[in-house]
Amino acid sequence: MTRFKITVLPGDGVGPEVCREAVRILHALSVFYGNEFRFQEKAIGGAAIRSHGTPLPQSTLDACLDSDAVFLGAVGTPEYDHLPPSERPEAGLLRLRTALGGFANLRPSVFFPALADCSPLQRSRVEGANVLIVRELLGGLYFSQPRGFDHDGNVASNTMRYSTAEIERIARIAFEQARQRRKKVTSVDKANVLETSQLWRRTVSRVARDYPDVALDHMFVDACAMHLISNPARFDVILTENLFGDILSDEAAAITGSMGMLASATIGGAVNIYEPVHGSAPDIAGRSLANPLGAIASAAMLLRHTANMPLEAADLEAAISQVLEEGHRTSDITSRGKSQALRTNEMGAFVEQAFVAMLDRRFSYHAV
Ligand code: NAD
Repeated sequence: MTRFKITVLPGDGVGPEVCREAVRILHALSVFYGNEFRFQEKAIGGAAIRSHGTPLPQSTLDACLDSDAVFLGAVGTPEYDHLPPSERPEAGLLRLRTALGGFANLRPSVFFPALADCSPLQRSRVEGANVLIVRELLGGLYFSQPRGFDHDGNVASNTMRYSTAEIERIARIAFEQARQRRKKVTSVDKANVLETSQLWRRTVSRVARDYPDVALDHMFVDACAMHLISNPARFDVILTENLFGDILSDEAAAITGSMGMLASATIGGAVNIYEPVHGSAPDIAGRSLANPLGAIASAAMLLRHTANMPLEAADLEAAISQVLEEGHRTSDITSRGKSQALRTNEMGAFVEQAFVAMLDRRFSYHAV
């Protein structure tokens, strides 16, 4: 019997190429266990403008709301750059995120020893780095009112506002995540200057009392930006508000060496969204050059956060490490002269092979 309904939104550019590989892996798992997942594909972004005249058709939204999880490729295409922002492909994704209500964005950045050459940081600095950024996604400067320009357009303002309830719910997610990891939360704010940060710090400290097994420290955002580059291995979970998280998560991404490696999950709303961090990469779209590992790692997050399959999620992450250790590379992570770049689907096939072998081993171990 099917347990999980997944709506797949391939989107634009390399979105369909990397989505296909993530779905291939989930499909392999589904076959292995006997039809665990059912997939339905819907249009979003530029593809939806072409087929439905709008970046988020009602049929797509309805399907997403009726799913256990949404898996997204990427949206955005230069073809629609001339449209006003509210009609562009990206507007469809923003509307979808708002409608599904996920307030916690989880972005892991993991250093793979096999990719040490690709990181812009020295190996000695990034060795052992494995950071999870938990970013508040629906509040703060990006959403609070009032905002806008004054009457002659010469003054503009935005508001950073947070309530105790908004801080508490994201803090609980960070502490729960830390419990599954190395049990350390670093809460990042600017409490020496901002009242919102003072409320943030006070609230996070109070919530921490419910998690005595998790260590909490506080850090100013400017110091955090510096430590992420100089000693990323000191962090386990970084908890922060919307704007700081936006900036710090891109900085942490540098650890991995390629945008194509990064996964994300948006949780806490009606339906979780899983997607690689990268965009539609129009410069390489349609040529099978995209690295599918960020999308595949997002599928691992789906196994962990929606399907409650932590062992299989860990197997999939181990399968990704294994193919990298074996020297398999797409062009974005190829060191010059060292190995030949694989096509997107070839990389997906290697991960599938390694993953199914791990599932097989787990299954036979339990069978004896
Ligand atoms: P991008 O992430 O698409 O590309 C940045 C660089 O990374 C490019 O050089 C690209 O070739 C490379 N890259 C990205 N994904 C890769 C992969 N899987 N494998 C190998 N290389 C990869 O960002 P951009 O160029 O700033 O934006 C392009 C479009 O994507 C824009 O329309 C933007 O609005 C959209 N976008 C969408 C999302 C999303 O859907 N969540 C996120 C970011 C950007």
